[in-house]
Amino acid sequence: MPVKPSSSEEEYFARQEAERRRKLAEERQAMLLAEERERERALHFMKCPKCGMQLEEIAFGEVHVDKCFSCEGIWLDKGEIDAIQGREAGFMGRLLNVFRQ
Ligand SMILES: [Zn+2]
Repeated sequence: MPVKPSSSEEEYFARQEAERRRKLAEERQAMLLAEERERERALHFMKCPKCGMQLEEIAFGEVHVDKCFSCEGIWLDKGEIDAIQGREAGFMGRLLNVFRQ
């Protein structure tokens, strides 16, 4: 005759199973988030954050400006402001003059 598991054993194994399933669900969720982030990154890479059109990278010395020729926005990557600050007075004005029509 099979031995009937005690209620504490049933609870123990059910808890273990629930914990295993919870970890799997968390791993699936993290994988989906990572995939979603990668999809978003690929979809939006070098697209204007305001109008969604293609950004063009224009080099001005060591400063690389991402320019949208659709809405006329100008975007700077991390470090570009520091690079501009490190330049001589009037550098920003000369940089902006590049885009004046
Ligand atoms: Zn734009």
